[in-house]
Parts: sequence; C-alpha cells; structure tokens
Amino acid sequence: MGKRGKKNGKRNSILVALLLVFFAAGIGGQSGKNDQQEPVGSQQSVFFEVSEGETQEASAEISTVMPTESAVEAEQAASDEEESLTASETAVQEPALQTLSVEEIPAYTGEPAIEINGNVPNFTDKEYTTEAFEKYSPLDELGRCGTAYACVGEEIMPTEERGAIGMVKPSGWHTVKYDFVDGKYLFNRCHLIAYQLSGENSNTENLITGTRYLNVEGMLPYENQVADYVHDTGKHVLYRVTPLFEGDNLVASGVEIEAASVEDQGKSLSFHVYCYNVQPGVEIDYATGESKLSDDSALNGDNTAEKNSNASGSDDSSKTQAADLQKEEDSSANSTAKTAAVVAMNSSEEDDSSENAEVQDYVLNKNTKKFHYPWCSSADDIKKKNRKDFTGTRDEVIAQGYVPCKRCNP
Ligand SMILES: [Zn+2]
Repeated sequence: MGKRGKKNGKRNSILVALLLVFFAAGIGGQSGKNDQQEPVGSQQSVFFEVSEGETQEASAEISTVMPTESAVEAEQAASDEEESLTASETAVQEPALQTLSVEEIPAYTGEPAIEINGNVPNFTDKEYTTEAFEKYSPLDELGRCGTAYACVGEEIMPTEERGAIGMVKPSGWHTVKYDFVDGKYLFNRCHLIAYQLSGENSNTENLITGTRYLNVEGMLPYENQVADYVHDTGKHVLYRVTPLFEGDNLVASGVEIEAASVEDQGKSLSFHVYCYNVQPGVEIDYATGESKLSDDSALNGDNTAEKNSNASGSDDSSKTQAADLQKEEDSSANSTAKTAAVVAMNSSEEDDSSENAEVQDYVLNKNTKKFHYPWCSSADDIKKKNRKDFTGTRDEVIAQGYVPCKRCNP
C-alpha cells in the first residue's frame, strides 16, 4: 500500500474505512466488548489484513501491520469517517476485490469511464517487474476473451506495419452501421491491450466486440496515457485489461483497466477504471450482439437519473473533459437518432476490410502526406500549419491519401 500514490491511498483508505464499518456492523456481536472504544483505525487494520490475505490478530496495532504512510492516512480516514458515511455516494465505489463482477458496477450514467477501487490497481508488490511481457487468456468455451496482462515497455511496442484484422470475429460480433455513430460502425474489433502498446494485432485472445464509444471515448485516453509515459521515459507500465461479461453474454458489458508505472511503483502513473461498452443512442443485446436504436425515452431516462455514482473524490480534470465530451455526443445522438436510418449489414468482406483497424490518435502532416503516432519524434517537428491531429482508424487516414511514417510505423 505504502508505495502507491498518496491521493489514491487516501481515497482507498476512506473507502476501506467505510467498508470496515459495514463489515463490523455486519458481524456485530462477534467483536468483543473491549472493541467498543477502540478507534476505527484499528478496525481498519483488520480489513487490510483480510484484503491482503494475512492472518494477524484483529487487535494488532495499526503501526505494526501497516507501512507508516498508510497508517497516517488511515487515521485521517478515521477522523473523516463521520462525514464520509453520510455522503452516501461514496459507498458506490468498489471494494478492493481481486476480480469484479458486472453486478458490482454502477449503471452507466453518461460517463464513458469511471474509477473503481478508489482508482487503485490491484497489483501486488511482487508483480512489479521491468521485464516486458504480454499474457493473454485462452478463449473460454463460448469463444470469449479473458484478462490480457502486460508489462508495457518500448521493447514490445510495434515495430512492424500492422496487418489486417478483418478476419477476426470476436464473440458477439455483428457488422452494423448507425448513421450517427462516429465512423458509422457500431462495433470495432477492440484490442484489449492496444496495438500501440503491444504490437499485437490480430491475436484473437486480444480482440473483443466493442462499441466505437468504448474504443474512442472509453479506452483510448487511458491507452494514450500509458503510451506517452513509456515513450517519454523509456520505462515500464504494468497494464491489465479484463473484459467483464455478464452470465453467458457474448458481448462484454465493459472493460476493467488497471495500470501502474513500474520503476516507481505507480507514483508517476496509476489508475484503475471501468469503461462501459455502450453506445449512446443504441440499445445492445449483450447476450447476442444484436442491437437497435434506443427509443428516446429510454435514452433520456438514463441520462436524467441522478445517480452521480462518481461524485466521490473524482477531482481530475480529464474526467470532467470526458463528461463534457459525453454531453456533446449525447445531444448529437439525441437529435440524429430520431431520423437515423439503421443499416444492418451482412458481414460481407467489403465491410470488414473497411473497418479492419483500431481507432487511434494520429498526427498528419498535410505537407508531406505522412502520418505518425502522436509520440513520434518526427511528429514534434511538423510545422503548425502542416499539422493535423486526427482520431480514427488507420484505414481512414490512408483513405485520405496519407502514408505511414517509416520511423514510428503507425
Ligand atoms: Zn512517425
């Protein structure tokens, strides 16, 4: 705990304190009478022990079972406890579980991603390694992806031109277009670990059926954070992506992403988020991947629900920006959904090849007609008047007449 970011640590401590109170209330009579006047802080240590899988006595002093930094935070959390308890939205955050289930995730309320577990990833100290690796889970009996896990470093980032992925059909795949969806296609073949991070392109164990919204609004900002950090520092990031399926559904409800910079154990970069596999304006049957326009009432109903599940402690500006983006997208979806023609397509080869790439941020040079990843040093050299930032698929860039840079091989 002590090595994680302070802010996260404190948030987590508050969360843990809350949980502990519920936990303690639940077991009621089991706790001895002596415990009555003990500070909450010592009860917290119980929870830490439970969550870390240790077995020390419940009465152990905090300072003996926690690193100093955490102990201080725990005391702060204890003193904040009264207020925290009355702020009911705090309780929506998730406990420090190793695996999440869809049932634990708050309903989508208009933000493409939410922090979970106080934004603290579940990596244990011994997982931190500077040796880059990638691990993918075998598909399950329904053909679904599992957790993808990597230590991202420049040594595994892409060096070759990417190939086509149009032949991969992830579980629940449907080729379907909606006029109001950016890029038209509802579903992208969505990399769990982005191509820009792993160089893994057509690996079936790394591709799920994900909405354009999940790909661009949900996952991409986090992928870019990781890519930028690794390219800027030459260091490593532990990065784990887990698609969450409800029951036997073929389409994931969303994707859990955990990341932490390795060399400083999360001080520079650390997050734990859940990205919703939704598309505003579209109703998806997650069991099969079928979809239809959502009727306006349902759309409006969802958005006006005052859930504010993320109000607790979300103080970063990127989230605010994401929320603003979402508002724009919602309003455009609302206005166009009424008249949008749904074009359900048979998955012909033509359609597949026109969407066989992942959505990325690119930098275009209008003068040389070359395009780059944003981190490419050549991209930095482009004159302002020639530079165009573009988010979309590689095919879309090429369709505009651009050729990939030889240095960054986008
Ligand atoms: Zn380049």
